[in-house]
Amino acid sequence: MKETGPCHVPHHTKLHEKSCCAYIGCVGLRYRCMNLRKLYTIDDQDGNRCKYFGKWPFQRVLGVQELLSVVFSLANLAAHAHNMHKIRTAQLINQHRPNFGSSQGLVWGLWYTYALGSINAWWWSAVFHSRDTHVTERLDYLSADVSIVIGLYVSIVRVLGVTSLQSRLTWAVPLAFATVIHFYYMLFIKFDYGFNVTLCVSVGVLQQVMWCTWALMNSHPCKRQLVAFVVLINAALSLEILDFPPIIGFLDAHALWHLCTVPLIYLWYCFILADAKWATASAAHLTPADKQQ
Ligand SMILES: [Zn+2]
Repeated sequence: MKETGPCHVPHHTKLHEKSCCAYIGCVGLRYRCMNLRKLYTIDDQDGNRCKYFGKWPFQRVLGVQELLSVVFSLANLAAHAHNMHKIRTAQLINQHRPNFGSSQGLVWGLWYTYALGSINAWWWSAVFHSRDTHVTERLDYLSADVSIVIGLYVSIVRVLGVTSLQSRLTWAVPLAFATVIHFYYMLFIKFDYGFNVTLCVSVGVLQQVMWCTWALMNSHPCKRQLVAFVVLINAALSLEILDFPPIIGFLDAHALWHLCTVPLIYLWYCFILADAKWATASAAHLTPADKQQ
């Protein structure tokens, strides 16, 4: 849906909006104003639904602002937690403890950390969608950034075959440093939404290219699942571009995107579990010289 222009606002609503603007920091007032505005002006002059303070008006339930986005964020969290449990179980079956110091334990530990980072990100996503404030917004965005950086680190370690502690630190330290610089910029210089989204999408695409190229070149046992995941996650992401207003005040494009990622998490972890087992089997055949890489 195209971005709508400024809405036509009746005079009595404009006065109310003016008082809202004075309290822009107060999320409760902002949402009350949004709902009042919806009562008066659902459509703009062209008959299109319009946004208010950059967001669609939602039907609030028990103080929860975007109910379906909250529910679907928690569903994503549950999917990661469930699959983290599967990683743990598979790890125990393979009799490998989460030992970051060994090349065999490394991949399990990395994927475990990835799952924890994702759970943290989805938790703050649920909090942010239930209550959009200055603090919850930053926690949501920056937690998502952390999970993306962890994903990038895992992909570098796997794709480049990094096994020694020194090589792992060589990659981990600059990535951690870059993340701290980014956080400093976002929190203390400018909370730049566009820059953050561009950075996240770029890093995401980079990871997808790295994984797919590596898996296809090395005949990874789960390359089909990986390619299917990449195709489907990008198709689901395109829902965000549609950016349609919430259907009956609940289901907008963003909530639908969060819903679509739930089953895709299971597909992604199919690859992750197979990859961890494959890495373990491969590591068993590595020579000491290989492990120094
Ligand atoms: Zn969201």
